[in-house]
Amino acid sequence: MASNKTFDFKQNIAGALADKQLRSNFKNATDTLRGKRLAVFTDPEETLRLRHVGNQIKRAGLNRLPELLEQLEAKCKENGIIVHWAETVDEANNIVLSIMEQHGAHKMVKGKSMVSEEMHLNKFLEDKGKLPLETDLGEYIIQLNNEPPSHIIVPAVHKNRKQIGQIFADNIPGVSYTEDTAELLAIARGRLREHYRTADIGLSGVNFAIAESGTLCLVENEGNGRMCTAVPPVHVALMGLEKVVGTLEEVPALYRLLCGSATGQRITTYFNMIKGPRKPGEKDGPKEVHLIILDNGRSKILADKQLRQTLQCIRCGTCLNHCPVYTRIGGHAYGSTYPGPIGEILMPQIEGLDKKGNLATASSLCNACEEVCPVMIPIPALIRRLRDESYDMDENGVVKGHGCKKNLLETVIWKAWKYMQVYPLLNTIMLKKLQLFGNKLPKVGPLKAWTSVRTAPKFARQSLKDLAKKEGIRNE
Ligand code: SF4
Repeated sequence: MASNKTFDFKQNIAGALADKQLRSNFKNATDTLRGKRLAVFTDPEETLRLRHVGNQIKRAGLNRLPELLEQLEAKCKENGIIVHWAETVDEANNIVLSIMEQHGAHKMVKGKSMVSEEMHLNKFLEDKGKLPLETDLGEYIIQLNNEPPSHIIVPAVHKNRKQIGQIFADNIPGVSYTEDTAELLAIARGRLREHYRTADIGLSGVNFAIAESGTLCLVENEGNGRMCTAVPPVHVALMGLEKVVGTLEEVPALYRLLCGSATGQRITTYFNMIKGPRKPGEKDGPKEVHLIILDNGRSKILADKQLRQTLQCIRCGTCLNHCPVYTRIGGHAYGSTYPGPIGEILMPQIEGLDKKGNLATASSLCNACEEVCPVMIPIPALIRRLRDESYDMDENGVVKGHGCKKNLLETVIWKAWKYMQVYPLLNTIMLKKLQLFGNKLPKVGPLKAWTSVRTAPKFARQSLKDLAKKEGIRNE
């Protein structure tokens, strides 16, 4: 479900930091996920080698993305999959709705799909009188509680066992409070089984789409993905256009990187390969399969050589688990479909720097995200690029909303700084002024805010140049 809250990042951060239970839940969960990842990637050299392979596969794929997408479409059609292209989330939502209406469908069971979160599909369908039901356990929990996911892999990571027990007791008729994990699982399983049997449509995401064969790969642990894609008569698969890979041979390396980074597993419990609807004589499987390929700003991202690295992401979520900001404030504070480091680089590019540019400020640039990213996305460099584009002094920006933070005072200061570096005489004059008056600058405006939590540096009474001159040092 889409969050109805108005986005105020600073206020969200303050609220999250004040919530001790939330911080404890996130600390426990992300500590565990980091530990699991470490237990799988035990050999640093082998891990680095694998990450290079993952990086090369994704880079090569992006370099010939249009060609791969055309090949994927052709092969999917050969396999009997109906392919739809959606430039915007509105288009994608309407395609899903039209498929439902063609089939007189009311109930949809959904496997986990971050693209459907990006589309706010549940809210859209509910407004049209449809019944979209999440079946991934984490998604099921937060749908009951009318919340958006707080993590791209573990959507209910912000809830502990007791809170989940209360959500079940409050929202599922006839269920009493329990905090016993096995009982909670049995309750969810019992409810969901009935929905799989009676749903008109099943929806899933796609982890990798193989162009050479038109195969859709779905990685999951709960079996709900297989139920959503195999039991209802119609299956709709949603993917961002960057999910295409060239060949089957490319999948094992990416799969291993995804499993190890996301959940600390060597392989997941289920790996589904979907190659079309039920064939004559087959006893199960959907009668119709649709693939919706969503752009939503990705083509623009692809056009920039540096920023396109954002599209290498395989949505493992490990950058979230290693981020000192995310692990303290959690996912909801970001007010975005994708939180944490990947959200900081993806959301401002999708929605614009004027709307989501301040996400790029939520980083200490400690580099932890880049060090663990399985496909070696240089996240800190991209964050710096987006910060620069927010100010965009020379109007060279390419990201939507570039220059939104530009203001006259800062422009004047930076221009003055530039000229000080170019003209030595101006540099000498300005340094003298700063030595005399720098420590007396009134603490107002941004300077007041900056110095309220930091000790302002003191300007030296003599510049290094003057000291050197005094000591008789020349040309140093
Ligand atoms: S940016 Fe890298 S670490 Fe983060 S979710 Fe994507 S692939 Fe995983």
